[in-house]
Amino acid sequence: MITKVIPEEKITAVLKLIKKSSKIVIVAHKRPDGDAIGSTLALCNFLIGQGKSATVILPDAIPSFHSGLPGAKDVVCFETQETEARALINECDLIFCLDFNFPSRIGALEAPITESRAKKVLIDHHLNHGEFTDVIISHPEIASTCELIFRLICRMGYYPDMSLETAQCICTGMLTDTGGLAFNSNSPEIYTIISELLKKGVDKDAIYRNAFNNYSESRMKLLGYVLYKKMRVLKEYHTAIITLTHDEMLRFNYQPGDTEGFVNQPLSIDHVFCSIFIKEEKDVIKLSFRSQGDMDVNIMAKELFGGGGHKNASGAESHFSMEETEKIIEKAIPEYVK
Ligand code: 5GP
Ligand code: MN
Repeated sequence: MITKVIPEEKITAVLKLIKKSSKIVIVAHKRPDGDAIGSTLALCNFLIGQGKSATVILPDAIPSFHSGLPGAKDVVCFETQETEARALINECDLIFCLDFNFPSRIGALEAPITESRAKKVLIDHHLNHGEFTDVIISHPEIASTCELIFRLICRMGYYPDMSLETAQCICTGMLTDTGGLAFNSNSPEIYTIISELLKKGVDKDAIYRNAFNNYSESRMKLLGYVLYKKMRVLKEYHTAIITLTHDEMLRFNYQPGDTEGFVNQPLSIDHVFCSIFIKEEKDVIKLSFRSQGDMDVNIMAKELFGGGGHKNASGAESHFSMEETEKIIEKAIPEYVK
């Protein structure tokens, strides 16, 4: 038995919008992860199956280890295909905003999407949300946006129509946002849904391997390097900090997505409940926060750098230097890690 979660009137509203629309665009947040990519591709595959013209537009590139997902080859990347992306946004009558809560999370796509006159639907599971869409489906208690897409498709009455490809994409995000069902996955309904996906023919084990055991050799060496040379454990505060500079990334032939999962590693150390990863990108410092149990890193990301996410997994961008960013964090840790 799967409970309703999404209110009936929202299901009806989305179904009505889909029926009225022929050209649909689906967007997700920048530096897309398994849930952003899985949820957009799942919905896109479903809509195409319903005879719609649907396209996924992402702010930047899909990491290579997710590029084998069904439909990934047809994704339009705003960074490299801006003209095509703008044309699609101008012509569409409906936009789905998946796996993000505020327009600033889609980077350069923010202006074209918010200025578009198309109807918009938000489907997300981050804490808090902006008011920039006609329909808002926001459920922070749900572990992944992919799970919400499954729920939406079923509630609209289309589970029998769900293709294996849609099910594979949904399973991907459900696994990646829970670390392979290792955290944020105590809700029994997650397993009921996984069971429904298995009935569609999904090979869950293969999806796990594809999402977690599919990295390059240089990424593995970079991980070894940061853990050995760049991780500091602040025992007193049960916290680990890892920093990574742009030069170091170049030395290890960095590709988009290569640092995915690095921030989780220190949590396997006994008594480390908080992990912070600080990465120097081209024009910004990218921060990842992770915690276990009661520690709330969302507050930390929000108050220190205006970021956000979830209680145990948040992110932010810092416009200070690497050194300044590290200092801000070190100074704040005693206050946040009680
Ligand atoms: P990650 O550390 O994997 O990039 O992100 C962890 C969580 O925080 C994800 O749910 C992601 O959507 C969110 N997040 C990442 N970066 C940012 C950011 O710059 N701002 C906000 N508000 N959320 C972020
Ligand atoms: Mn997500």
